Amino acid sequence: MSRYSALGLLRGALNGQKHWQPAWRDPEPKSHYDIIVIGGGGHGLATAYYLAKVHGLRNIAVLEKGWIGGGNTGRNTTIVRSNYRQPALHNLFEFGLKMWEHLSDELNYNVMFSPRGSLTLGHSDADMTMLAQRGDAMRCSGIDAELLTRDQVAKMEPLLDMSREARFPIQGALLQGRGGTARHDAVAWGYARGADSLGVDIIQKCEVTGFVWDGKAVVGVETTRGRIGAGRIGICVAGHSGHVAGLAGLKLPIESQTLQAMVTEGVKPMIKSVIQTQSLHCYISQSDKGGIVFGGDPDNWPSYAQRGNPMIMEGAIAQGLALVPSLSRLRMVRTWSGVTDMSFDGSPIIGETPVQNLFLNGGWCYGGFKATPASGWTYAYTLANGKPHKLNAPFALDRFEKGATIDETGTGPMPNSR
Ligand code: FAD
Repeated sequence: MSRYSALGLLRGALNGQKHWQPAWRDPEPKSHYDIIVIGGGGHGLATAYYLAKVHGLRNIAVLEKGWIGGGNTGRNTTIVRSNYRQPALHNLFEFGLKMWEHLSDELNYNVMFSPRGSLTLGHSDADMTMLAQRGDAMRCSGIDAELLTRDQVAKMEPLLDMSREARFPIQGALLQGRGGTARHDAVAWGYARGADSLGVDIIQKCEVTGFVWDGKAVVGVETTRGRIGAGRIGICVAGHSGHVAGLAGLKLPIESQTLQAMVTEGVKPMIKSVIQTQSLHCYISQSDKGGIVFGGDPDNWPSYAQRGNPMIMEGAIAQGLALVPSLSRLRMVRTWSGVTDMSFDGSPIIGETPVQNLFLNGGWCYGGFKATPASGWTYAYTLANGKPHKLNAPFALDRFEKGATIDETGTGPMPNSR
């Protein structure tokens, strides 16, 4: 009987899970890999999975300095959507959203994708104009977007304060019904198990501390577990992008900032969708366990500290309570934070670097979880072929020197961007 069947699970629970096997191996590093991916977050693991699954490569390693999924992948507020105005952004994120819709089947691992709707509230005429423009742009690319009236919003989320005297009066909203949430840890674990089963070595507690050079090309990495050679190397370290690229002498247009989130005690279902706003610095959703998850802005200064500060927390909670006053009696049970890599136009960087054999995937700001499958798919293509995928071509590092930035205050800075 399979250990994944209901009876197998019950038997495992009763006998102390005696015969359960680890879901992935714990290999020693080899001396050389065709491709090394630095960073065992969702993006790095997805990249390794698609390198093996789609491109047929087998001699691949993911090097992770801590434990897989212990970075931003395990710290985010799990929002998944593709409601961006600019085509380069919505095409990439929509490619990802379509992958989310089948990801549990693809990985044979329940990532608990929950398309409960992503609702962006408008509080002024200007907000509503911007939401209408964004919705029109999305629909032109075949992506679902619906502009809701005030009454429709009130019907969908009855606990919102819809009074005219509200601190932040609500005029309407843009709904992407296919947006929602997914279980973040499961995404890392599902990709890890899938990659491992295709022969990828996932090496934890292995920090990259430098690069090995042959002339102007990198041909390996120095790590806390020794030197490892590589044909190509992909950086995929989120909040540490600037630091790791710096080891190869690159200075990135990225600053690392702390972003925090909070969750209340669990309650019965009361918030249906993921509520964001066009103007405020807070967003709210209800987790599958019932806790109300609050997110806000990042700290306003660069930092590698994985803890937030009360000022940002207070602001996000005050705004959340103004939107949904009945949350005021709930107890906040946990806060946490992660280090995000904020690019200067708020959009990611995926592709080649000026260093031969070295590639970069970073700058996801605080919006990269939703991109995990698309990021992995397109970065795998780039690492396998040494050239951009058509969806990541606009996100090249050299766009900053060419003046081709993709600035929507979009995946990055400012409200409505998680
Ligand atoms: P990570 O999961 O951070 O993986 C990078 C890994 O690299 C880490 O495990 C780290 O240990 C490792 N590493 C670093 N340096 C080295 C080294 N030298 N050697 C080896 N390994 C190294 N995005 C959304 O789309 N929706 C949201 O709702 C959302 N909410 C967020 C809320 C918070 C509080 C935070 C912090 C982020 C949020 N994000 C959200 C952003 C999202 O979490 C990230 O963009 C995304 O998870 C990045 O994935 P990753 O795999 O690149 O990074």
